[in-house]
Amino acid sequence: MNIVLMGLPGAGKGTQASHIVDAFHIPHISTGDMFRAAVKNETKLGLEAKSFMDQGQLVPDHVTNGIVRERLSEDDCEKGFLLDGFPRTVPQAEALDKLTLDLERTLDMVIYIEVKEEELIKRLTGRRICQECGAAYHVIFAPPKVADQCDRCDGKLYQREDDKRETVSKRLKVNLDQTEKLLAYYEQKGILKRIDGEQSIETVSERILSLLRGLGV
Ligand SMILES: [Zn+2]
Repeated sequence: MNIVLMGLPGAGKGTQASHIVDAFHIPHISTGDMFRAAVKNETKLGLEAKSFMDQGQLVPDHVTNGIVRERLSEDDCEKGFLLDGFPRTVPQAEALDKLTLDLERTLDMVIYIEVKEEELIKRLTGRRICQECGAAYHVIFAPPKVADQCDRCDGKLYQREDDKRETVSKRLKVNLDQTEKLLAYYEQKGILKRIDGEQSIETVSERILSLLRGLGV
């Protein structure tokens, strides 16, 4: 079972990825983990990636694609894989097509957890941090007992610059443009499944698992 899981930040991708991994015992391959492992193991590509990251630059596609290729060639991927965070762009998707072909695999399904921009902004801007003890809250998912006040130490809560609406909104816009193109690419291939990500975590999970069971692979 070879799967790509897609979703914008805040869509709940991480949670759903862990449900899929638990149900089907395939490795969860996220770009972040893959880069960290390649850097830690000091592979040729890992070191190359590191040199770009150290300079605050984007890792170029040929390096990223190479790292994915190495990872997917490992033994634990024989039964399948769940890719998360890759591909991000259409050229990367084309590289993945070539890679799966070389490995004599087929990409079975691309799952997109769909959440409207406004809802994502609501989720992503809700974080509040205690300025005294650093405890984290979320105005919707984990609110403090008294608004803007820490349950533990009564400290005042604040919103980090990264969680402010303008920052979040900008970050989403960049992602949204790339995602739309990628969705069109997989739609055309007929392997894209969109899941309404605004339902409960359990419902989203049930939908995804039932789609995957339906693959029969
Ligand atoms: Zn506190």
